[in-house]
Amino acid sequence: MQAFSPNGFTIAFLCALALATLTRLWLAQRQIGHVLRNRGTVPGSFSGTITLPAHQKAADYSVAKSRLGITDIVLGAVVLLVLTLGGGLEWLSQAWSRVLDPAGYWHGVALVMSVIVLLSLLDLPLALYRTFVVEAKFGFNRMTLALFFADLAKQALLGLALGVPLLLVVLWLMARMGELWWLYVWLAWMGFNLLVLMIYPTFIAPIFNRFTPLSDPTLAARIEQLLARCGFKAQGLFVMDGSKRSSHGNAYFSGFGAAKRIVLFDTLITRLAPSEIEAVLAHELGHFKRHHVWKRVAVLFAMSLGMLWVLGQLIGEAWFYRGLNVHSQGTAMALMLFFLVVPVFTFFLQPLTSLYSRRHEFEADAYAASHASPADLVRALVKLYQDNAATLTPDPLHSAFYDSHPPAATRIARLQQLPAA
Ligand SMILES: [Zn+2]
Repeated sequence: MQAFSPNGFTIAFLCALALATLTRLWLAQRQIGHVLRNRGTVPGSFSGTITLPAHQKAADYSVAKSRLGITDIVLGAVVLLVLTLGGGLEWLSQAWSRVLDPAGYWHGVALVMSVIVLLSLLDLPLALYRTFVVEAKFGFNRMTLALFFADLAKQALLGLALGVPLLLVVLWLMARMGELWWLYVWLAWMGFNLLVLMIYPTFIAPIFNRFTPLSDPTLAARIEQLLARCGFKAQGLFVMDGSKRSSHGNAYFSGFGAAKRIVLFDTLITRLAPSEIEAVLAHELGHFKRHHVWKRVAVLFAMSLGMLWVLGQLIGEAWFYRGLNVHSQGTAMALMLFFLVVPVFTFFLQPLTSLYSRRHEFEADAYAASHASPADLVRALVKLYQDNAATLTPDPLHSAFYDSHPPAATRIARLQQLPAA
């Protein structure tokens, strides 16, 4: 695949990076401008339920998050340039070659792991600022510094325990499986994902949170009835201590097959009435009943197959490495370059994935409206928007590009048109 000369690829990469970065910055500016322009009045459909101070808090919170996002966008682009064209990856690879055999697997593992560690260290100041300045300023943060660093240490250990064996398998397959290595790597990647999905509820999630069976008998009976009505089998109802990190509320299902469990954040239980919790769970059940979870997994698997095939074509091409200012051609280097550079190009697919996700949200809402009370779901959503200080007036273009959930006003208007169960 002699698609480019090294210089041609450098130019294509720089153009795509510039276009993606400018689009991101432009969308962030639009969002900030739109939210600030609408800060003065509560939108009509919420005037009876959300107060002006709450609306203004949501506006200020959205603007603060978007401003932090701008720093993130600029920093991300700079780091990417330093690692590729700036010679960072090449330097790291040379440095590891002094202590490890450059042709061996451990050299590859060291290269990939050092890039991941470097990226997390660079992200650390932003993560600290997000939690202890932005979230704290708006009263959402419940995390202590000790918990923050304990989480970080646990994530690092978990990343090592799962990531190093996976990486060794991938590098081995790449070296030994000939032309079709990408197909074998894809199979290994699918197996790994299914394994994580399976062990997540029972082994991974409890590392970070405590899960206790739901103790409120009235609420539990209500939920059991909903599950029976929807023909849904789950292995237990759990309450998670989400309040130890943040006051944002949520509910989710995890696991699959007969091992599915329902998890409610403690913050959700204290804020919503039982009928509202039931409506929120009916929405989550809708995602299962309409097969959204499996559809999403299927899309991800199809996309990763496509990506690995592309990498299979690129891996032997000198222009791919030279174009990104890398001279040590190898499997781990190819992986690293690919995963750093690909998001620059796939960024432009974001509106499609967002659209797909919003369509699922509407379907889950429709399911909830036919198995629980749509009016309760609306009440629950309004409380959640208010508690999470989600903006009611996002910029339409920003929302179409990024938002996995429909804008509040559209979503509620749709629910109010649906016939009740
Ligand atoms: Zn949903």
